[in-house]
This record gives sequence, structure tokens and C-alpha cells, in this order.
Amino acid sequence: MPTEISPYPMVPVDDALRIILRRVAPLPAERVARRDALGRVLAEPVIATEDQPPFVASTVDGFAVRADDGIAPRRLRGDVRAGASGRPIGPGECVRIMTGAPVPAGADAVVMFEWAEQRDGVVIPEAPPKPGDNVRPIGSDLRTGEMVIPAGARLGPVEIGLLATLGIREVAVHRRPRVAVLTTGDEIVDADATPSGPAIRDSNGPTALAALAEWGFASEFLGIAPDVAEEQETLIRRGIERADVVVTSGGVSVGTHDLIKPIFAKLGELHFGRIAFKPGKPLTFATVGQTLLFGLPGNPVSAYVCLALFVRPALRRLAGEEDVVPVLVDAVAGEPLRPSPDRPDYQRAIARWEGGRLVVRTTGPQGSSRLRSLVGANALVVVPAGTTPLPAGAPVDAILLGPVGGDRLLGAEG
Ligand code: AMP
Ligand code: MG
Repeated sequence: MPTEISPYPMVPVDDALRIILRRVAPLPAERVARRDALGRVLAEPVIATEDQPPFVASTVDGFAVRADDGIAPRRLRGDVRAGASGRPIGPGECVRIMTGAPVPAGADAVVMFEWAEQRDGVVIPEAPPKPGDNVRPIGSDLRTGEMVIPAGARLGPVEIGLLATLGIREVAVHRRPRVAVLTTGDEIVDADATPSGPAIRDSNGPTALAALAEWGFASEFLGIAPDVAEEQETLIRRGIERADVVVTSGGVSVGTHDLIKPIFAKLGELHFGRIAFKPGKPLTFATVGQTLLFGLPGNPVSAYVCLALFVRPALRRLAGEEDVVPVLVDAVAGEPLRPSPDRPDYQRAIARWEGGRLVVRTTGPQGSSRLRSLVGANALVVVPAGTTPLPAGAPVDAILLGPVGGDRLLGAEG
């Protein structure tokens, strides 16, 4: 029964993550076409099925020569372009060759245009070429049988390019987790409805669905349940049948209408019901068999931050990834930071490179109902529990949520 004082111990953040990840294993493998593989995680390593390059290729525009001929003049015997193959050359001969074109039989080096003199159909290198100059031997990029991408790697654009290079059309990847999202609360109406009186529009549902889409997970919306145990339970059961992960929002505090914890406990095993964390102390985690249940707090900031920091790592692990927990980076407080007395506070912040340091400033008022405090935030700054503000300039940990601006740009020093 809900009580005013929570019976759940406050679990430290790291323990909460460990408790979650201990119960998560990568989902089984399936084969997908390369064109559908972006963002998926390899269940098996990719092995090179061919040598790359498959022929000896020139790395520059120049003259394909025999190194043996030293600096002797060579007769120019025509052209070879990328995609064409040239005739063999003999002693005292050379051909004009373009980057990526096959070095003709007989030639073993390429002299760049800039390093040769050309007149009257004759080419004279300025220095004696060495065998192998400016050529890529067969298999010098990838060799048949070599492991090219390890299992557990997430397939990004570059990995897709490698698969294409090798002509691999299909890969074994982990199945992508399916997430069912439920909004709860008597006061919540659909975002497209017009609320009257003390009702408010659902923002947690749309935020969660958008975040899951952005992170590459499949999701479905179970709807909005009022604070009626039977209705919530019915929808959560539906989610368990259809999805690998069920994410609810609202109804996890100690109010008399907070029903999620008892429902999770009834359906499965509840692993924690409170964490030493702000925003989002009442985050709740349970499992029903292999299915994960997360009860996010109703406050929109808490719901999103808990989704990003606790649910996303579990989803990434299900999807097959190894390193799933966001890392802390060293930063410096750009302004005094007010702590929370009883738990670390992950405040919404803007991080910028300034004078060689990553400086973080909060986005303004940090109320956990203020979704606006996340607009424009590219970081969370971890303010340890305490009673006195951290002064500006204090070293702090931060978690990056997005790209960082500032004075450290491509090619800039320091
Ligand atoms: P709860 O965790 O259910 O006690 O809700 C905490 C606060 O978050 C209350 O002010 C709710 O009105 C608000 N809230 C709960 N769910 C949502 C939602 N889906 N969208 C927007 N606000 C919500
Ligand atoms: Mg509620």
C-alpha cells in the first residue's frame, strides 16, 4: 500500500546502473540487409572476403615506371586511368597513370608528375624511384580472412562503407529492443486534446517516443492510463506481451494515487524503488522474466533524464553494445552551483570550451517540472550532495548530451 514515507532505500546511482545492467543481455541475432543496418550492432565479426585493393593501385597521379631503370629517360607509352587496365610496360618505358588506376604489369613504382620532367614523349625522374613508391599492393588495406569489424561494434556510416567495399550485402546484428511506453495520471490528456480545468497535456509520452526514435529503438505507445490500478495493470501487461522493455511515467512517488510500484511488484520482481539522484529520486526498476520495467517519475525533466541515464544504457546493452553508460568528463563550474542536501543533483547545463577548459553553466531555474531547463542543454553537471554552493571555478563532473561549442575548433591548438 502506498504510504507517506517510502519503504524503499535510496540506491546510489552507480549501484542502480549495476543492478539494471546485471539483468540485461544482448538480444538474439538476426540477419539484416546492409541498407537496413545503420545503427545496429554486430552479433558476429565481419571478416574480409576479398583483398582490398584487389589489384596493385597507384596512390598518386604520375608515371608508372620500372624502378630498375633508375633516372634513365623512359619512353611514354600512353595513359592508364582509374577503372581501365593498361598494357604491360617493358624496360625503358613508362605510362601516365591516375590515382586509383591499376599499375600495369612490368611497372613497380609511380613517380609523381611533380617529380619528373616530361618532354618529346620522354619522361625523366628527378630522383631514382624505389620499388613500391606510391603504389598500394594487393590486400594492403584489407586482406582476405582478416577481421575487419568486431562483434559488438555499432554500424555507423564508415562501417556501412566497409561492408560495401567488400560487397557484403547482409550482416548478423542483434535484434533491436522494442519499447512500450505508457503515460499515467488522472490529470493527463492527449497532447492533441484541449485540457480543461486542472488537466495537462501529456509531454512524457511524446518525449519518450521521440527520444527512442532518435536513439534508434523501436517503440509503441500504450496510451494514457488514469490512476486506476486495474487499468494501469492491463496496459502494462499488454506492454510486457509485446515489448522487451516497458517504460511508464508518473505514479511512482509516495502519493496515494501512485500505483506503479505495487503493480510492478505484483507482476514481477522489483529491484529498486528509489535512487540517490536528482532529478528522479522515485525511479523504479523491475523485471518480469526477461522483460524490463522502468517506472519513470512524472515530472517531465525527471522522466527524460532518467530515460537518458538509466533506460538508454539498458536498451543499448539489449541492442548488443558493450560500453553503454555515459562517461563523466572533467569540467569547471562557470558560476556558483547550488547543491541538494541529500543526493547528487544532475543539473541541466550548457558546456562550452573556453580557454582550454570545458566550462559548464546551468540553463537557469532547475525545477524538475520545467522541461524548458532541458531546451538548449548539451550537458548535465553533477553537483554532489551538500549544503554549501560550489564556487565558480570549482572542478565538476559533467555528462555530455550533445555537441559542444566554444573556442576549441577543428585545427585549433590547445
Ligand atoms: P507523478 O509522478 O505522477 O506524481 O507526477 C509528478 C508531476 O508530473 C505532476 O505534476 C504531474 O502532473 C506531472 N506529470 C506526470 N505525468 C506527466 C506527463 N505525461 N506529461 C506532463 N506532465 C506530467
Ligand atoms: Mg501521477
